[in-house]
Amino acid sequence: MTGLYIHFPFCKQKCRYCDFVSFAGKLSEGERYVSTLLTEMEAYRGAAIDTVYLGGGTPTALAPELLLKVLSRVASSFSLAENAEVTVEANPGTVTKETFVMLKEAGVNRVSLGVQSFVDSELSLLGRIHTKQEAYEAVSAIRSAGIGNLSIDLMFSIPGQTRKTLLDSLSCAVALNPEHLSCYSLILCEGTPMYEANERGELTLPDEDEDRERYALVTKVLEEKGYGRYEISNYAKEGYFARHNTKYWTREPYIGLGVAAHSFYKNRRYENPASLVDYYEQVESGKLPAGEAVSREDAMSEFLFLGLRQTKAGVRRSEFFKCFSVNLDEIYGETIKKLVKLKLLIDDGEKICLTDRGIDVSNAVFCEFI
Ligand code: SF4
Repeated sequence: MTGLYIHFPFCKQKCRYCDFVSFAGKLSEGERYVSTLLTEMEAYRGAAIDTVYLGGGTPTALAPELLLKVLSRVASSFSLAENAEVTVEANPGTVTKETFVMLKEAGVNRVSLGVQSFVDSELSLLGRIHTKQEAYEAVSAIRSAGIGNLSIDLMFSIPGQTRKTLLDSLSCAVALNPEHLSCYSLILCEGTPMYEANERGELTLPDEDEDRERYALVTKVLEEKGYGRYEISNYAKEGYFARHNTKYWTREPYIGLGVAAHSFYKNRRYENPASLVDYYEQVESGKLPAGEAVSREDAMSEFLFLGLRQTKAGVRRSEFFKCFSVNLDEIYGETIKKLVKLKLLIDDGEKICLTDRGIDVSNAVFCEFI
């Protein structure tokens, strides 16, 4: 079945490291934006959907009524599976108890909460709009609304973060008993205030080895607490893998609505414009982006470099054959042997998976399959 991603490109304030497509100070655009989303939805009317993901930006920066309007139109426009996973990304600085009660009533059954750190000085350095206390209050509001599937986002390799403060954040997160955690290394992208501050020598960032040590520490702590790493940056209790995100790694189709949203639908990949004006124009013209059909060769590469992100499941030979009617080793046998020899891949005969070392240099491994 198909997944549905809806992008909400609004935030109360821009975090100092953020290079996502999100705009601060444009919340007044909310009504027009939502009405454009509803129009865009018409192009896909009737599609069978089993995951819905409201991401951003900060969906919860908009008035909850606007989100409800979108969710209600999703329910009437698509053939929505009864057990659909419906996720909303939330920022602790933009929510109240009522927010989650309303979202739950509208069918939301999973929240992805952007906490990043449970240390106030780190939150303030990152330019987050919330405190540790507000993160606690948001979790309590999510649980009291009866939402039983919670994911918490955390970040490591934050300037000034020590092993101790990282461990503190991990233990605060685990104590809240979320079903899922996403943990990312802070990457400074050109053009962001933190990147500029780093260029001016104002930040102390961990070097690559320290960053990998932190990552190993995160994985060790979470695995000890019962959160299996199932994707490079994602950890979950048994049965709580993110169903929507798994579609990206297994090449299942998804429709992306909203500014800068990507789609992989009917074997074509395409993306919407990243500016609001261009997006409005595109939807008003009634056209979808042309995009490109994915060739068989590219589909095989994608199958490998996306599938290998799944650290436990890896890439199964039988699945590859099912998709392409050719043996995996006929196409990639030499590359696989080379990477196994370099101890970057494990090959158990049925499937191939990244080793821990392979995960650390995963981009270089993926390039071998392109
Ligand atoms: S809340 Fe997320 S999308 Fe918004 S500015 Fe911060 S990092 Fe970017």
